[in-house]
Amino acid sequence: MEKGKFALIVALTAVLILCAGAYIFVSCRKETGETTTAAATTQQTAPSTLKPTEEPTSAETTAKTETTTQSGTEERTGTQPSTKPQPVDEENPYAYAGIKPVVIDPYEGEWNLLLVNINRRLPFDYAADLAQAAPGYDTKLDARAAPHYRDMFNAAKKDGLTLVPLSGNRRISTQRTNFENKIAYWQNRGYSKTEATRKAAQTILPPGCSEHNAGLAMDICSLDVSFEKTDEFAWLQKHAADYGFILRYPAGKKDITKVNYEPWHWRYVGVDAAKEIKAGGQCLEEYLGLG
Ligand SMILES: [Zn+2]
Repeated sequence: MEKGKFALIVALTAVLILCAGAYIFVSCRKETGETTTAAATTQQTAPSTLKPTEEPTSAETTAKTETTTQSGTEERTGTQPSTKPQPVDEENPYAYAGIKPVVIDPYEGEWNLLLVNINRRLPFDYAADLAQAAPGYDTKLDARAAPHYRDMFNAAKKDGLTLVPLSGNRRISTQRTNFENKIAYWQNRGYSKTEATRKAAQTILPPGCSEHNAGLAMDICSLDVSFEKTDEFAWLQKHAADYGFILRYPAGKKDITKVNYEPWHWRYVGVDAAKEIKAGGQCLEEYLGLG
């Protein structure tokens, strides 16, 4: 009996050891498997863990695409000003062509000596008080200059000549339209906007830069250089200073006036100044020391 019990205990112990060994073996296999599985899962999930990074990547790509689209739009917007008007500085609408006149105060100093040219413009809202320049014509001048033109007109009439007042005061808005039309004229002939503006300024002064905008100048009888060969021009050369008018853009002064010779364009400056300017062979810029 003792032997039988001993044998049973040994057998049970052996079974327990075997079971324990088997459990440990299986457990080890199981753990290894899990680890392997974990590693495999890690590897498998590696792509999936990349996915979140891929998604941002693709989101970035999308963002980049959008950015590209946006910047493309911006670029398109940026390139549009070549065909659409650019936002401009209202005070200097032609600055892109180097035209940046200072704004003068038309009420400062002697009104008859007001210097208006491509470097000195009137405020865009300036409007002179006007008066009819000659009997029988609608053309107007600054009300302070108009009586002097009338006197000159009447004096020439007595000599048998008609100093036709073709163009006197011109509104700044009209000057702007004329100038813009001239820019368009040159653009339509293939010039860039900048080049077209510079060319326009050679024949039409920018708005506010013309003496016509001040109502102080009159284009008489013609707008052609051939006017210099007429009796009317000869009469003006002889008598205009007596009425306070000067030939504003004489031949040979373009470097200073920036305007071609215009035998038809006469400017009121007052009798004293007109006589001095005529005697000195000057243009108004030289006379005023503002050339
Ligand atoms: Zn003129």
